[in-house]
Amino acid sequence: MTASFDFAVVGAGIVGLAHALAAARAGHRVVVLDREAQSVGASVRNFGFVTVTGQERGDCWRRALRSRDVWAEVAPQAGIRIEHEGLLVTARRAEAMAVIEAFAATDMGRDCTLLTAAEARSRCPHLAAGGLAGGLWSPHERRVESRDAIPKLKDWLEAEKGVIFLRPVHVHGIEERTLYTSAGRIEAARIVVCPGDERLALYPERISALGIGRCRLHMLKVRPGNGARLPGAVMSDLSLVRYLGYAALPEAQALRRRLEAEQPAHLAEGIHLIVVQGADGDLVVGDSHHYEASPAPFAQGHVDDLILDELDAVLDLGPRTVVERWMGTYAHLPDRLMVVDAPEPHVRLVVVTSGTGASTAFAIAEEVLADLEGATA
Ligand SMILES: Cc1cc2nc3c(=O)[nH]c(=O)nc-3n(C[C@H](O)[C@H](O)[C@H](O)COP(=O)(O)OP(=O)(O)OC[C@H]3O[C@@H](n4cnc5c(N)ncnc54)[C@H](O)[C@@H]3O)c2cc1C
Repeated sequence: MTASFDFAVVGAGIVGLAHALAAARAGHRVVVLDREAQSVGASVRNFGFVTVTGQERGDCWRRALRSRDVWAEVAPQAGIRIEHEGLLVTARRAEAMAVIEAFAATDMGRDCTLLTAAEARSRCPHLAAGGLAGGLWSPHERRVESRDAIPKLKDWLEAEKGVIFLRPVHVHGIEERTLYTSAGRIEAARIVVCPGDERLALYPERISALGIGRCRLHMLKVRPGNGARLPGAVMSDLSLVRYLGYAALPEAQALRRRLEAEQPAHLAEGIHLIVVQGADGDLVVGDSHHYEASPAPFAQGHVDDLILDELDAVLDLGPRTVVERWMGTYAHLPDRLMVVDAPEPHVRLVVVTSGTGASTAFAIAEEVLADLEGATA
């Protein structure tokens, strides 16, 4: 017998789980299928950093604000700990300070606070000695420990929202309302495909036509040697030429020129700094960006060294230890942060094509659900 549902979601990463939540909240009977027995994709390899400040002006920033609110609402219900709130952007150079001053004057800088060097040090006593022009404090961000949060979100959707999870089940075809899977056929009135950076299993010709590629990132887990506690996430000058909310400002051009002269190796490896902390005090630190059709399987030591070099320039962690290293990949387009494609009126292909899925997925899912319901009413 073929099982039948109102709503089928392919992919149990954060994008798929966000769609399952939106559909369950709308009263639909939902099934989620994933080919992995447990989540191992981008959604558990990331920082769990729900970033608002610095996201691209417009839809991305708006979606990040909304998704942050959904995280805040769902996390306590699902038993997910918010590890910390807020973001400290440190500025070592005058040019970096000029960028965050310009940012603070925009509407996106509302509720953010410009800090002198002394104020930044008082907020984060473990900032490294050495030149510091000042900083920016944003209250908007949240951080979850993704490797715990994603399984907990899945368990809560299953237990409290009645979502059915079928895994490990590979979906190898969709025709009309039938999903052809490694566990047989499933019928669903509406289908959302959230495959992350898997480009060949479903709608490969559409994914190819969209030009979706992949980005590989290096990540580290670092144990401070001095018990350092951070007030929130920490970023540095390099982030101000990467995150579009800052990088699009005219002031970022002078900073980029200076960084090209002073940190060319970091820029060549696509490195900027994000540091977040967990309950055990360990820090998740990254990252680098390499754009490759087939991500290289070998992590280059010098890339990790450059990330740690930037970490040490920003934070004094005493005799720190690297306790884990890993790489992650996400889907990438150079000019679009996310894509929603409609292969059929009742099917949507949803791919976040940038490093923003943890920050925007809940809002994207609400929009996709409204669109699907409108198209298939
Ligand atoms: C190292 C790293 C750091 C990041 N940092 C941040 C950050 O700080 N903040 C932020 O907002 N974003 C961050 N991101 C981006 C974010 O993690 C991604 O945008 C997001 O996780 C993508 O979610 P997803 O559900 O689309 O993909 P995934 O988590 O990869 O999930 C896709 C799922 O689909 C399943 N699947 C695919 N095809 C099939 C099929 N045919 N049948 C069955 N199952 C299938 C896969 O098994 C997989 O479980 C980061 C990403 C990485 C890699």
